[in-house]
Amino acid sequence: MIYVRPKKSLGQHFLHDRQIAERIVQSIGNNTKSLLEIGAGTGILTEFLLKKHIDFKTIEIDRESIRFLQNNFPDIKNKLIEGDFLKLNLHDIFNKPFGIIGNLPYNISSQIFFKILDEKNYIPEAVCMIQKEVAERIAEKPGSKTYGILSVLIQAFYDVEYLFTVHENAFTPPPKVKSAVIRLNRNSVLQLNCDETLFKKTVKATFNQRRKTIRNSLKLITGDKIITENRFLPQRPEMLGVSDFVELTNFVENLLNKH
Ligand code: SAM
Repeated sequence: MIYVRPKKSLGQHFLHDRQIAERIVQSIGNNTKSLLEIGAGTGILTEFLLKKHIDFKTIEIDRESIRFLQNNFPDIKNKLIEGDFLKLNLHDIFNKPFGIIGNLPYNISSQIFFKILDEKNYIPEAVCMIQKEVAERIAEKPGSKTYGILSVLIQAFYDVEYLFTVHENAFTPPPKVKSAVIRLNRNSVLQLNCDETLFKKTVKATFNQRRKTIRNSLKLITGDKIITENRFLPQRPEMLGVSDFVELTNFVENLLNKH
């Protein structure tokens, strides 16, 4: 039974299928010994997570859910943080690397992934349920229409697996779209072989005008610098993999350094 009034503004679609909840929790790898859950809600994942013998914390923004969790899960006491994940200093929670798990509030899932990327060296693993369309985009390989900014930025530092699709009827209230669970595992890349700030800027500038050729969208970054020849210029961004974007970023940096 769900006793919390679902609030649209907080992306509250409560999962009620326990089998799916268990499957999500089982998707976290055995190497993960510390885990942060984002958005406990009415605690369907939390219940399974509390049984795991790991260092576990959960953060929830909604007062009503917090009260519900405190009343229903006596073991949650020192593990429950009331607050906004996006404003949280993650180093205040754990002083060592930790995994992330959650049925994410879909309205802020991209922001959550950007925060994970900012802390990528402390977050070796993340198992998240998100909108199916976003999950596909993150897992997509070059050449596809849905391949985009998040795909490149995440795949630069994480191996992405699309685990399974979840039907809208598994939630109360049902969302308008299907959901999916993905797993991110930190890859071995410590640093990209280019300026990472410029890499992000290049990826964003090219995908924000994805119908244009790279030659045209680069002008946003390079201004009136003369663009010399490069094999990527006639292409569109969805054709470029992570290593291509690294090469392109170094090309852009050279252009910017030219007088
Ligand atoms: N884990 C529960 C489940 O599977 O049924 C709830 C999932 S619901 C899709 C997302 C949860 O994230 C809600 O409980 C919502 O209140 C919470 N939430 C929304 N924004 C948040 C934020 N910025 N920080 C922490 N929790 C948030």
